[in-house]
Amino acid sequence: MGAEAAGFRPTTDRGGGWHDDAESSAPASAQLPARLLLGSGPSPVPERVYAGLAQPTIGHLDPVFGELMGETSALLQEVFGTQSPATVTLPATGSGGMDALVANCVLPGDRVVCGVNGLFAERIVDALTRAGAEVVRVDAPWGRAVPLEELRAAGEPRLDAMVLVHGETSTGVCQPLDGLGDFCRERDALLLIDCVTSLGGQRLLIDEAGVDAAFSASQKCLNCPPGLAPFTMGERARGRMAGRTYPPTSWCFDMSLLLNYWSPDGGRRYHHTAPTNMVVALHEALQIVVDEGLTERWERHRRAHQALRGALATLGIERIVPDGEELNPLLAVQPPEGVDAASVRGVLLHDHGIEISGGLGSLPGIWRIGVMGDGARPESQRRLVTALATELGRDSGEALAALEEGWSR
Ligand SMILES: *Cc1c(COP(=O)(O)O)cnc(C)c1O
Repeated sequence: MGAEAAGFRPTTDRGGGWHDDAESSAPASAQLPARLLLGSGPSPVPERVYAGLAQPTIGHLDPVFGELMGETSALLQEVFGTQSPATVTLPATGSGGMDALVANCVLPGDRVVCGVNGLFAERIVDALTRAGAEVVRVDAPWGRAVPLEELRAAGEPRLDAMVLVHGETSTGVCQPLDGLGDFCRERDALLLIDCVTSLGGQRLLIDEAGVDAAFSASQKCLNCPPGLAPFTMGERARGRMAGRTYPPTSWCFDMSLLLNYWSPDGGRRYHHTAPTNMVVALHEALQIVVDEGLTERWERHRRAHQALRGALATLGIERIVPDGEELNPLLAVQPPEGVDAASVRGVLLHDHGIEISGGLGSLPGIWRIGVMGDGARPESQRRLVTALATELGRDSGEALAALEEGWSR
């Protein structure tokens, strides 16, 4: 007689509300709450992406998976706005993408200009310093863009690379890149960017902007779970790599090895074991982005940002970034006077199931609200605005009206 027929149920009760449900295929190991993810990432994951993740695990050298890698690379090229075939996804989070950028594109002794106006830029300075680069910082206050003329001035008399965070998630600033591609080209230098939070949510075309290499992450505007770092490297950056006298210090992120694995020309040679289920999920997430259309998606993020900003203003919550410097996928705001920012965030999470993020570094008292992919929709924002109004002891009517008005514009 089987265990089931005998009415046996495994005793996996761990107390504290954890229990095994023999009727469902839900995992016994953990029961996670559904959250509305409106923080700095991860962002809401569409059902289609979860369905991709739940497909059977297959071998990473299976020809079926090889085809999927090819399609994923093509979709990534479209979303990055690049023709470069050296466009892959790394088995790492966004931070691994940063390490890959530095390992492949920067040599010891290189003079590298880095714009610094937030936490993620500070991390890049750290990574560049570890790599032995001569780092020239161009600082701007947190919450402001780095002035282009200061970046150009720092590029004299000699420049090997310039690194910028396109979407600074710690402050909600979008860094303009105008003219920097040409500026770097004229000096035979590389333009390198972090587009973790801007990719798929803010206007950016890698080739048009003259960017030589860029990294992103799966869990921001692409709406995939965390764990993959989309990465692209153009011809000039690859040329510099080919001219190196010794290989990158990172084996795992060495693009010449990675490309032998990713490209059919390279023979799809074993490098690492690709996280196959995650690649399937990313493939699905990218397909959703491409189906919507990049221009349409950027415009939706702009509208969502402005609508939410208008709604929050009626509650006395103001954006910290000036007009023209805002990053649409991330709205950083100052809570009203006298409000305990951390405790309101706690109540939003525990009583309303909504996650928003707190401040980092030089801006500890702020709220950082994600406007990323499916988080940039009226339904999600209505829930947030209603919950915030409730917790601030305000009527939500005016805020919701402002939200609708913002979306109709
Ligand atoms: C989230 C983020 C990162 C780091 O990505 P992880 O996936 O957390 O490692 C890097 N840069 C920016 C701008 C980010 O928003």
